[in-house]
Amino acid sequence: MKAVVIGGGIGGTCAAIALKRFGIETAVFEAVKEIKPVGAAISIWPNGVKCLNYLGMKDALRELGGQMRYMAYNDYQQGQTLTRFSMDPLIQCVGEQPYPVARAELQAMLLDAYGRNDVQFGKRVTHVEESASGVTAWFDDGTSATGDLLIAADGTHSVIRKHVLGYATERRYAGYVNWNGLVEIDESIAPADQWTTFVGEGKRVSLMPVSGNRFYFFFDVPLPKGLSQDRSTVREDLYGYFAGWAEPVQKLIAQINPQTTNRVEIHDIEPFEQLVKGRIALLGDSAHSTTPDIGQGGCAAMEDAVVLATMLQTNSLGIEDALLRYQEKRADRVKDLVLKARKRCDVTHGKEMAVTEQWYRDLKQENGERILAGMCETILGGPLQ
Ligand code: FAD
Repeated sequence: MKAVVIGGGIGGTCAAIALKRFGIETAVFEAVKEIKPVGAAISIWPNGVKCLNYLGMKDALRELGGQMRYMAYNDYQQGQTLTRFSMDPLIQCVGEQPYPVARAELQAMLLDAYGRNDVQFGKRVTHVEESASGVTAWFDDGTSATGDLLIAADGTHSVIRKHVLGYATERRYAGYVNWNGLVEIDESIAPADQWTTFVGEGKRVSLMPVSGNRFYFFFDVPLPKGLSQDRSTVREDLYGYFAGWAEPVQKLIAQINPQTTNRVEIHDIEPFEQLVKGRIALLGDSAHSTTPDIGQGGCAAMEDAVVLATMLQTNSLGIEDALLRYQEKRADRVKDLVLKARKRCDVTHGKEMAVTEQWYRDLKQENGERILAGMCETILGGPLQ
Protein backbone atom coordinates (compact mmCIF):
# COMPACT_ATOMS: atom_id res chain seq x y z
CA MET A 1 0.00 0.00 0.00
CA LYS A 2 1.34 3.45 -0.89
CA ALA A 3 0.07 6.70 0.61
CA VAL A 4 0.66 10.07 -1.02
CA VAL A 5 0.75 12.71 1.71
CA ILE A 6 0.15 16.32 0.70
CA GLY A 7 1.60 18.89 3.13
CA GLY A 8 4.66 18.66 5.35
CA GLY A 9 3.28 20.57 8.35
CA ILE A 10 2.33 19.04 11.71
CA GLY A 11 -0.50 16.93 10.27
CA GLY A 12 1.29 15.66 7.17
CA THR A 13 4.52 14.72 8.94
CA CYS A 14 2.68 13.03 11.83
CA ALA A 15 0.58 11.03 9.38
CA ALA A 16 3.66 10.04 7.38
CA ILE A 17 5.55 9.01 10.54
CA ALA A 18 2.56 6.97 11.75
CA LEU A 19 2.09 5.18 8.41
CA LYS A 20 5.81 4.49 8.09
CA ARG A 21 5.81 2.90 11.53
CA PHE A 22 3.13 0.49 10.33
CA GLY A 23 5.17 -0.38 7.26
CA ILE A 24 2.98 1.57 4.83
CA GLU A 25 4.94 3.20 2.00
CA THR A 26 4.63 7.00 2.03
CA ALA A 27 5.64 9.91 -0.17
CA VAL A 28 5.31 13.44 1.25
CA PHE A 29 4.91 16.48 -1.00
CA GLU A 30 5.20 20.00 0.39
CA ALA A 31 4.38 23.17 -1.54
CA VAL A 32 7.07 25.47 -0.19
CA LYS A 33 10.83 25.08 -0.50
CA GLU A 34 11.33 25.77 3.20
CA ILE A 35 8.60 25.48 5.83
CA LYS A 36 8.22 28.68 7.85
CA PRO A 37 5.56 28.05 10.51
CA VAL A 38 3.00 30.86 10.97
CA GLY A 39 3.42 31.06 14.73
CA ALA A 40 6.36 31.20 17.10
CA ALA A 41 5.32 28.36 19.37
CA ILE A 42 2.51 25.99 20.17
CA SER A 43 1.21 24.37 23.32
CA ILE A 44 0.97 20.63 22.89
CA TRP A 45 -1.61 19.41 25.38
CA PRO A 46 -1.34 15.87 26.80
CA ASN A 47 -3.62 14.38 24.12
CA GLY A 48 -1.16 15.61 21.49
CA VAL A 49 1.86 14.68 23.62
CA LYS A 50 0.54 11.12 23.90
CA CYS A 51 0.30 10.90 20.11
CA LEU A 52 3.91 12.06 19.74
CA ASN A 53 4.97 9.61 22.47
CA TYR A 54 3.15 6.86 20.58
CA LEU A 55 4.95 7.84 17.38
CA GLY A 56 8.35 7.48 19.05
CA MET A 57 9.18 11.10 19.88
CA LYS A 58 8.81 10.98 23.67
CA ASP A 59 12.40 11.92 24.52
CA ALA A 60 12.84 14.40 21.69
CA LEU A 61 9.69 16.28 22.73
CA ARG A 62 10.84 16.52 26.36
CA GLU A 63 14.01 18.25 25.18
CA LEU A 64 11.95 20.95 23.45
CA GLY A 65 9.12 21.42 25.92
CA GLY A 66 8.83 24.11 28.56
CA GLN A 67 7.88 23.21 32.12
CA MET A 68 4.44 24.63 32.84
CA ARG A 69 3.80 23.78 36.51
CA TYR A 70 1.26 26.50 37.33
CA MET A 71 -1.42 28.48 35.60
CA ALA A 72 -2.45 32.03 36.54
CA TYR A 73 -4.77 34.80 35.41
CA ASN A 74 -3.83 38.35 36.32
CA ASP A 75 -5.78 41.59 36.34
CA TYR A 76 -4.84 43.82 33.41
CA GLN A 77 -4.46 47.13 35.22
CA GLN A 78 -2.75 46.30 38.50
CA GLY A 79 -1.32 42.96 37.41
CA GLN A 80 -2.50 41.30 40.63
CA THR A 81 -3.35 37.61 40.59
CA LEU A 82 -7.01 36.77 39.99
CA THR A 83 -6.35 33.05 40.35
CA ARG A 84 -3.29 30.82 40.42
CA PHE A 85 -3.16 27.06 40.73
CA SER A 86 -0.98 24.03 40.12
CA MET A 87 -1.34 22.09 36.86
CA ASP A 88 -0.59 18.90 38.77
CA PRO A 89 -4.24 17.78 39.13
CA LEU A 90 -4.55 17.98 35.33
CA ILE A 91 -1.45 15.84 34.84
CA GLN A 92 -2.79 13.34 37.40
CA CYS A 93 -6.16 13.30 35.64
CA VAL A 94 -4.83 12.63 32.13
CA GLY A 95 -1.51 10.87 32.78
CA GLU A 96 0.81 13.19 30.89
CA GLN A 97 1.96 16.78 31.04
CA PRO A 98 1.57 19.55 28.45
CA TYR A 99 4.61 20.81 26.54
CA PRO A 100 4.75 24.26 25.01
CA VAL A 101 7.37 24.16 22.22
CA ALA A 102 8.87 26.53 19.66
CA ARG A 103 7.26 25.74 16.33
CA ALA A 104 10.42 25.72 14.26
CA GLU A 105 11.87 23.16 16.68
CA LEU A 106 8.72 21.03 16.59
CA GLN A 107 8.74 21.12 12.80
CA ALA A 108 12.43 20.12 12.74
CA MET A 109 11.75 17.25 15.16
CA LEU A 110 8.90 15.95 12.99
CA LEU A 111 10.90 16.21 9.77
CA ASP A 112 13.85 14.43 11.36
CA ALA A 113 11.60 11.69 12.74
CA TYR A 114 10.15 11.07 9.28
CA GLY A 115 13.32 11.65 7.26
CA ARG A 116 13.85 15.16 5.96
CA ASN A 117 15.31 13.88 2.71
CA ASP A 118 12.19 11.86 2.02
CA VAL A 119 10.03 15.01 1.80
CA GLN A 120 9.75 16.51 -1.67
CA PHE A 121 9.70 20.29 -1.26
CA GLY A 122 8.50 22.80 -3.86
CA LYS A 123 5.63 20.50 -4.92
CA ARG A 124 2.34 22.42 -4.84
CA VAL A 125 -0.75 20.34 -5.58
CA THR A 126 -3.19 21.94 -8.00
CA HIS A 127 -5.75 19.14 -8.24
CA VAL A 128 -6.31 15.45 -7.64
CA GLU A 129 -7.87 12.66 -9.72
CA GLU A 130 -9.30 9.40 -8.44
CA SER A 131 -9.69 6.11 -10.22
CA ALA A 132 -11.00 2.76 -8.99
CA SER A 133 -7.51 1.68 -8.00
CA GLY A 134 -5.72 4.83 -6.90
CA VAL A 135 -5.36 8.59 -6.56
CA THR A 136 -3.12 10.95 -8.50
CA ALA A 137 -1.99 14.37 -7.28
CA TRP A 138 -0.97 16.92 -9.90
CA PHE A 139 1.61 19.57 -9.04
CA ASP A 140 2.07 23.06 -10.42
CA ASP A 141 5.36 22.04 -12.07
CA GLY A 142 3.43 19.63 -14.30
CA THR A 143 4.56 16.48 -12.47
CA SER A 144 2.29 14.04 -10.65
CA ALA A 145 2.35 11.34 -7.98
CA THR A 146 0.08 8.33 -7.67
CA GLY A 147 -0.75 6.22 -4.64
CA ASP A 148 -3.36 3.81 -3.36
CA LEU A 149 -4.62 6.60 -1.12
CA LEU A 150 -4.02 10.30 -0.59
CA ILE A 151 -3.85 12.18 2.69
CA ALA A 152 -4.68 15.85 2.26
CA ALA A 153 -2.81 17.64 5.06
CA ASP A 154 -2.59 20.85 3.05
CA GLY A 155 -3.76 23.15 5.82
CA THR A 156 -6.61 25.57 6.34
CA HIS A 157 -6.47 26.86 2.73
CA SER A 158 -6.61 23.27 1.41
CA VAL A 159 -7.20 22.93 -2.33
CA ILE A 160 -8.16 19.28 -1.92
CA ARG A 161 -10.99 20.00 0.57
CA LYS A 162 -13.24 21.24 -2.24
CA HIS A 163 -12.71 17.99 -4.16
CA VAL A 164 -13.69 15.98 -1.07
CA LEU A 165 -16.71 18.05 -0.03
CA GLY A 166 -17.92 19.04 -3.47
CA TYR A 167 -18.19 22.69 -2.40
CA ALA A 168 -15.88 25.46 -1.22
CA THR A 169 -15.81 26.33 2.48
CA GLU A 170 -15.54 29.87 3.81
CA ARG A 171 -13.05 30.79 6.52
CA ARG A 172 -14.82 32.73 9.30
CA TYR A 173 -13.00 35.67 10.92
CA ALA A 174 -13.11 35.13 14.69
CA GLY A 175 -12.93 38.86 15.44
CA TYR A 176 -9.45 39.25 16.86
CA VAL A 177 -5.82 39.66 15.90
CA ASN A 178 -3.04 37.67 17.59
CA TRP A 179 0.60 38.77 17.79
CA ASN A 180 3.04 36.09 18.89
CA GLY A 181 6.75 35.51 19.32
CA LEU A 182 9.52 34.37 21.64
CA VAL A 183 11.47 36.40 24.24
CA GLU A 184 14.05 35.52 26.83
CA ILE A 185 12.47 34.64 30.19
CA ASP A 186 12.28 37.62 32.54
CA GLU A 187 10.78 36.69 35.91
CA SER A 188 9.83 40.28 36.63
CA ILE A 189 7.25 39.76 33.85
CA ALA A 190 6.03 36.28 34.85
CA PRO A 191 7.32 33.18 36.69
CA ALA A 192 9.38 30.84 34.53
CA ASP A 193 7.31 27.74 35.35
CA GLN A 194 3.86 29.22 34.84
CA TRP A 195 1.36 29.87 32.06
CA THR A 196 0.48 33.46 32.89
CA THR A 197 -2.35 35.41 31.27
CA PHE A 198 -3.30 39.06 31.84
CA VAL A 199 -6.95 39.68 30.97
CA GLY A 200 -9.10 42.79 30.56
CA GLU A 201 -11.10 44.81 27.99
CA GLY A 202 -11.71 41.61 25.95
CA LYS A 203 -7.97 41.41 25.29
CA ARG A 204 -5.31 39.13 26.68
CA VAL A 205 -1.55 38.90 27.05
CA SER A 206 -0.14 35.46 27.68
CA LEU A 207 3.25 33.89 28.41
CA MET A 208 4.24 30.22 28.39
CA PRO A 209 7.73 28.83 29.01
CA VAL A 210 9.45 26.88 26.21
CA SER A 211 12.92 25.32 26.35
CA GLY A 212 16.06 27.44 26.06
CA ASN A 213 14.99 29.93 28.74
CA ARG A 214 12.35 31.49 26.47
CA PHE A 215 8.77 32.61 26.88
CA TYR A 216 6.28 32.09 24.07
CA PHE A 217 4.19 35.26 24.27
CA PHE A 218 1.01 36.32 22.58
CA PHE A 219 -1.23 39.36 22.56
CA ASP A 220 -4.89 39.16 21.46
CA VAL A 221 -6.89 42.26 20.50
CA PRO A 222 -10.45 42.29 19.11
CA LEU A 223 -10.16 44.28 15.86
CA PRO A 224 -11.79 44.55 12.45
CA LYS A 225 -10.38 42.30 9.75
CA GLY A 226 -8.04 43.65 7.10
CA LEU A 227 -6.23 46.45 8.96
CA SER A 228 -2.85 47.18 7.44
CA GLN A 229 0.07 45.50 9.15
CA ASP A 230 3.50 47.03 9.37
CA ARG A 231 6.35 45.40 11.26
CA SER A 232 7.99 48.74 11.93
CA THR A 233 5.02 49.87 14.06
CA VAL A 234 4.35 46.64 15.99
CA ARG A 235 5.69 47.97 19.27
CA GLU A 236 3.82 51.29 18.99
CA ASP A 237 0.65 49.44 17.97
CA LEU A 238 0.87 47.21 21.04
CA TYR A 239 1.66 50.14 23.37
CA GLY A 240 -1.52 51.74 22.02
CA TYR A 241 -3.74 48.69 22.40
CA PHE A 242 -2.37 47.98 25.88
CA ALA A 243 -2.18 51.55 27.23
CA GLY A 244 -2.89 51.52 30.97
CA TRP A 245 -2.07 47.81 31.33
CA ALA A 246 0.16 46.62 34.17
CA GLU A 247 3.92 47.12 34.28
CA PRO A 248 4.85 43.51 33.26
CA VAL A 249 2.83 43.95 30.05
CA GLN A 250 4.63 47.23 29.25
CA LYS A 251 7.93 45.50 29.95
CA LEU A 252 7.05 42.62 27.65
CA ILE A 253 6.19 45.01 24.81
CA ALA A 254 9.55 46.73 25.32
CA GLN A 255 11.37 43.40 25.10
CA ILE A 256 9.77 41.84 22.01
CA ASN A 257 11.57 41.78 18.69
CA PRO A 258 9.19 43.37 16.15
CA GLN A 259 11.08 41.68 13.28
CA THR A 260 10.20 38.21 14.55
CA THR A 261 6.77 38.97 15.98
CA ASN A 262 3.97 37.40 13.93
CA ARG A 263 0.59 39.04 13.39
CA VAL A 264 -2.30 36.68 12.59
CA GLU A 265 -5.97 37.42 11.96
CA ILE A 266 -7.68 34.48 13.64
CA HIS A 267 -10.16 32.38 11.65
CA ASP A 268 -11.96 29.07 11.85
CA ILE A 269 -14.22 27.08 9.50
CA GLU A 270 -17.71 25.87 10.30
CA PRO A 271 -17.27 22.15 11.12
CA PHE A 272 -18.37 19.63 8.49
CA GLU A 273 -19.09 15.90 8.84
CA GLN A 274 -17.40 14.62 5.72
CA LEU A 275 -13.66 14.06 6.10
CA VAL A 276 -13.08 11.49 3.35
CA LYS A 277 -14.07 10.72 -0.22
CA GLY A 278 -13.18 7.36 -1.70
CA ARG A 279 -9.42 7.02 -1.25
CA ILE A 280 -8.78 10.59 -0.08
CA ALA A 281 -8.73 11.67 3.57
CA LEU A 282 -8.59 15.23 4.89
CA LEU A 283 -6.35 15.54 7.95
CA GLY A 284 -5.39 18.42 10.27
CA ASP A 285 -6.49 21.96 9.40
CA SER A 286 -7.80 20.89 6.02
CA ALA A 287 -10.36 18.76 7.90
CA HIS A 288 -11.04 21.10 10.81
CA SER A 289 -9.83 24.67 11.19
CA THR A 290 -10.17 26.04 14.68
CA THR A 291 -9.32 29.22 16.52
CA PRO A 292 -6.36 28.64 18.84
CA ASP A 293 -8.39 29.44 21.98
CA ILE A 294 -8.05 25.99 23.52
CA GLY A 295 -4.72 25.23 21.81
CA GLN A 296 -6.02 22.11 20.12
CA GLY A 297 -5.65 22.54 16.33
CA GLY A 298 -2.22 20.95 16.09
CA CYS A 299 -3.05 18.37 18.77
CA ALA A 300 -6.12 17.35 16.76
CA ALA A 301 -3.91 16.90 13.67
CA MET A 302 -1.68 14.56 15.73
CA GLU A 303 -4.78 12.64 16.86
CA ASP A 304 -6.01 12.38 13.24
CA ALA A 305 -2.66 10.91 12.21
CA VAL A 306 -2.70 8.23 14.90
CA VAL A 307 -6.31 7.26 14.22
CA LEU A 308 -5.94 7.20 10.43
CA ALA A 309 -2.81 5.07 10.55
CA THR A 310 -4.45 2.69 13.04
CA MET A 311 -7.53 2.29 10.85
CA LEU A 312 -5.38 1.49 7.82
CA GLN A 313 -3.28 -0.95 9.82
CA THR A 314 -6.04 -2.85 11.57
CA ASN A 315 -8.61 -3.06 8.80
CA SER A 316 -8.84 -5.80 6.17
CA LEU A 317 -11.84 -4.56 4.22
CA GLY A 318 -9.81 -2.18 2.10
CA ILE A 319 -8.73 1.46 2.02
CA GLU A 320 -12.13 3.02 1.47
CA ASP A 321 -13.58 1.17 4.44
CA ALA A 322 -10.63 2.18 6.64
CA LEU A 323 -11.05 5.83 5.66
CA LEU A 324 -14.76 5.74 6.47
CA ARG A 325 -13.91 4.35 9.91
CA TYR A 326 -11.41 7.19 10.36
CA GLN A 327 -14.16 9.67 9.51
CA GLU A 328 -16.55 7.93 11.91
CA LYS A 329 -14.01 8.15 14.74
CA ARG A 330 -12.95 11.75 14.09
CA ALA A 331 -15.89 13.82 12.86
CA ASP A 332 -17.61 14.39 16.23
CA ARG A 333 -14.35 14.86 18.10
CA VAL A 334 -13.02 17.57 15.80
CA LYS A 335 -16.40 19.31 15.58
CA ASP A 336 -16.46 19.41 19.38
CA LEU A 337 -12.96 20.93 19.51
CA VAL A 338 -13.77 23.62 16.93
CA LEU A 339 -17.00 24.62 18.69
CA LYS A 340 -15.44 24.57 22.16
CA ALA A 341 -12.64 26.83 20.92
CA ARG A 342 -15.17 29.18 19.31
CA LYS A 343 -17.14 29.43 22.55
CA ARG A 344 -13.96 30.12 24.54
CA CYS A 345 -12.91 32.65 21.92
CA ASP A 346 -16.13 34.61 22.28
CA VAL A 347 -15.94 34.73 26.08
CA THR A 348 -12.25 35.67 26.11
CA HIS A 349 -12.53 38.34 23.43
CA GLY A 350 -15.60 40.24 24.56
CA LYS A 351 -18.12 39.19 21.92
CA GLU A 352 -20.71 40.06 24.57
CA MET A 353 -18.85 42.24 27.02
CA ALA A 354 -21.23 41.44 29.92
CA VAL A 355 -20.37 37.74 29.58
CA THR A 356 -16.65 38.52 29.47
CA GLU A 357 -16.92 40.79 32.53
CA GLN A 358 -18.69 37.96 34.37
CA TRP A 359 -15.83 35.62 33.39
CA TYR A 360 -13.33 38.08 34.90
CA ARG A 361 -15.38 38.08 38.14
CA ASP A 362 -15.57 34.25 38.07
CA LEU A 363 -11.80 34.04 37.80
CA LYS A 364 -11.51 35.69 41.22
CA GLN A 365 -13.52 32.79 42.69
CA GLU A 366 -11.68 30.10 40.74
CA ASN A 367 -9.39 27.66 42.57
CA GLY A 368 -8.46 25.80 39.39
CA GLU A 369 -10.98 23.00 39.78
CA ARG A 370 -13.41 24.14 37.11
CA ILE A 371 -10.79 25.21 34.59
CA LEU A 372 -8.76 22.01 34.95
CA ALA A 373 -11.89 19.82 34.81
CA GLY A 374 -12.78 21.39 31.45
CA MET A 375 -9.26 20.86 30.13
CA CYS A 376 -9.23 17.30 31.45
CA GLU A 377 -12.46 16.47 29.64
CA THR A 378 -11.13 17.89 26.36
CA ILE A 379 -7.86 16.00 26.65
CA LEU A 380 -9.49 12.68 27.59
CA GLY A 381 -11.60 12.91 24.41
CA GLY A 382 -8.44 12.04 22.45
CA PRO A 383 -7.70 8.57 21.06
CA LEU A 384 -4.92 7.59 23.48
CA GLN A 385 -5.77 7.21 27.15
P1 FAD B 1 -0.32 23.45 8.40
O1 FAD B 1 0.54 23.56 9.58
O2 FAD B 1 -0.92 24.68 7.82
O3 FAD B 1 0.51 22.69 7.27
C1 FAD B 1 0.02 22.55 5.97
C2 FAD B 1 1.20 22.34 5.05
O4 FAD B 1 0.71 22.08 3.74
C3 FAD B 1 2.07 23.59 4.95
O5 FAD B 1 3.43 23.25 5.14
C4 FAD B 1 1.79 24.12 3.56
O6 FAD B 1 2.91 24.78 2.98
C5 FAD B 1 1.43 22.84 2.81
N1 FAD B 1 0.54 23.07 1.67
C6 FAD B 1 -0.49 23.95 1.58
N2 FAD B 1 -1.06 23.89 0.38
C7 FAD B 1 -0.40 22.94 -0.33
C8 FAD B 1 -0.52 22.43 -1.65
N3 FAD B 1 -1.45 22.88 -2.50
N4 FAD B 1 0.34 21.45 -2.06
C9 FAD B 1 1.30 20.97 -1.21
N5 FAD B 1 1.46 21.43 0.06
C10 FAD B 1 0.62 22.40 0.49
N6 FAD B 1 -2.54 24.22 17.86
C11 FAD B 1 -2.25 23.57 19.02
O7 FAD B 1 -2.39 22.34 19.08
N7 FAD B 1 -1.79 24.27 20.11
C12 FAD B 1 -1.58 25.62 20.08
O8 FAD B 1 -1.14 26.20 21.06
C13 FAD B 1 -1.87 26.31 18.88
N8 FAD B 1 -1.68 27.65 18.80
C14 FAD B 1 -1.94 28.30 17.65
C15 FAD B 1 -1.75 29.67 17.59
C16 FAD B 1 -2.02 30.38 16.44
C17 FAD B 1 -1.82 31.86 16.40
C18 FAD B 1 -2.51 29.68 15.30
C19 FAD B 1 -2.81 30.42 14.02
C20 FAD B 1 -2.72 28.30 15.34
C21 FAD B 1 -2.44 27.60 16.51
N9 FAD B 1 -2.62 26.22 16.58
C22 FAD B 1 -2.35 25.56 17.75
C23 FAD B 1 -3.15 25.45 15.44
C24 FAD B 1 -2.04 24.74 14.66
O9 FAD B 1 -1.06 25.67 14.26
C25 FAD B 1 -2.63 24.08 13.43
O10 FAD B 1 -3.78 23.36 13.77
C26 FAD B 1 -1.61 23.14 12.79
O11 FAD B 1 -0.50 23.85 12.34
C27 FAD B 1 -2.26 22.38 11.64
O12 FAD B 1 -1.32 21.58 11.02
P2 FAD B 1 -1.56 21.12 9.51
O13 FAD B 1 -0.39 20.26 9.17
O14 FAD B 1 -2.92 20.57 9.35
O15 FAD B 1 -1.54 22.47 8.68
